[in-house]
Amino acid sequence: MPETRYIFVTGGVTSSLGKGILAASLAKLLQARGYNVTIQKLDPYINVDPGTLNPYEHGECFVTEDGAETDLDLGHYERFLNETTSQANNVTTGRIYQSVIDKERRGDYLGKTVQIIPHITDEIKRRVKILGGKGKYDIVITEIGGTVGDIESLPYIEAVRQLKWELGNKAMVIHLTLVPYLSATGELKTKPTQHSVKMLLETGVQPDILVLRTEHDIDLSIRKKVALFCNVSLDAVIQSVNVPTIYEVPLKMLEEKLDITVLKKLDLAINEEIDLDAWNNFLNKQKNPTTTVEIGLVGKYVELHDAYKSIAESITHAGAVNRCKVNLHWIHSEEITTDNVEEKLSKLNGIIIAPGFGHRGMKGKILAAKFARENNIAFLGICLGMQVAVIEFARNVLNLEGADSSEMNPKTPHPVIDLMEEQKGITNYGGTMRLGAYECRIIEKESNVCKAYNKLTVHERHRHRYEFNEMYRDQFVENGMVPVGINPDTDLVEIMEIPSNKWFVGVQFHPEYRSTVLNPHPLFVDFIKNSIVEK
Ligand code: GLN
Repeated sequence: MPETRYIFVTGGVTSSLGKGILAASLAKLLQARGYNVTIQKLDPYINVDPGTLNPYEHGECFVTEDGAETDLDLGHYERFLNETTSQANNVTTGRIYQSVIDKERRGDYLGKTVQIIPHITDEIKRRVKILGGKGKYDIVITEIGGTVGDIESLPYIEAVRQLKWELGNKAMVIHLTLVPYLSATGELKTKPTQHSVKMLLETGVQPDILVLRTEHDIDLSIRKKVALFCNVSLDAVIQSVNVPTIYEVPLKMLEEKLDITVLKKLDLAINEEIDLDAWNNFLNKQKNPTTTVEIGLVGKYVELHDAYKSIAESITHAGAVNRCKVNLHWIHSEEITTDNVEEKLSKLNGIIIAPGFGHRGMKGKILAAKFARENNIAFLGICLGMQVAVIEFARNVLNLEGADSSEMNPKTPHPVIDLMEEQKGITNYGGTMRLGAYECRIIEKESNVCKAYNKLTVHERHRHRYEFNEMYRDQFVENGMVPVGINPDTDLVEIMEIPSNKWFVGVQFHPEYRSTVLNPHPLFVDFIKNSIVEK
């Protein structure tokens, strides 16, 4: 096993250029050439994790098996690599400072003045190296959040400078920039890239490879110019043109020989054989659908698609398996009313109600669950989505007036969704929910869920404080909404289903965190399959 190599991915010119997708695509290619790769994200904000961040601020919070609340890029890493990540794969400035301050309080620094250099930078380096070392990963790709030049990023870039110095050709930097196209003159402009590299050089870091995001092909003369101005070899100037799906990016990077250039620079063997069969097979199915389906995603953050990233990607995976083009309709829960629910939802073949917190948009979600149930439309309620389905059933089928979740109405006469026992008395918001993977036992063999999973024990990831209230279990069963999955240790209800409907499932967990390109999630696959209407 070779000594671990470290690749740092930085970004310049603007944010949102897709460092996460670039890191994931490169990792995919290196994995396909036989290397054991992981990806880490360093986020320069002060929050200890994104768990307390509003999705409008930072998009979805991705939950790992070990219950870490992490950046949504970790979702891409898992979906591309088909491997799990953990808390170690996402570190924020808040977490770095927290451990340095804890050490200081313990007296570990022996009376020294604690400073950004070396104490903060040492802690950053330790967090990077934790993933490497003997018997671990061959290659660790570390994505540095933010844009070069941000004040917040400085300690990270400094840590990268030091690591490059310490590790020599066992470390390298890939810098992602933008080459804008000026339509007035019909030109691609490299100046922003030159400036961004200059800024990186000012901090003592020479990038080894430049990846240029562009809307048009970058010709040889521009590549030569960038190479010359930025001190990189010509094969290290890589273009990344816009593609219709993120899953094509690895193939584009392969065309550009990004993986080969990386392996050469890191002095690693180049396995000529690259195993991308399963990946290509997926893309083939995605590109050649034989049918179409209309799916509505009802949530309160729909203006920002990043807030539901993993759900959207899971649907993409499931669509490909079913050779089905999924038209995803983002429906704002606050805009659904009794008067327009028919108009908004009747053309849909399947409805998903998204996870969420707080009462905003609850009315619309409950109307959507009712519409799906009464019209026998395929339905998947995720976390809050399941809770909504339960509340709707309690109000309209069990006739429990005012039934609610005690999260939404603490005074409800019928708390069909109630705070979990272990959550009572918790006052801190950060990292205190029921988080991470738990076992779930499927107890109804005839259920759609059992058929979809095709097994009786599954593990799924959670992120919630409230649960189905056991006191109402019999009433629900008698009236046709049945717990089909339970936690074997605590008896918590994890899955509800209405067996008399075609496909109506609510899950207390988040199946979307486990769907990958090579392992699409069975519940999404079956949901899409059952949404498809025979023509
Ligand atoms: N707000 C609900 C709870 O805490 C649902 C959470 C979610 O959808 N992730 O139980």
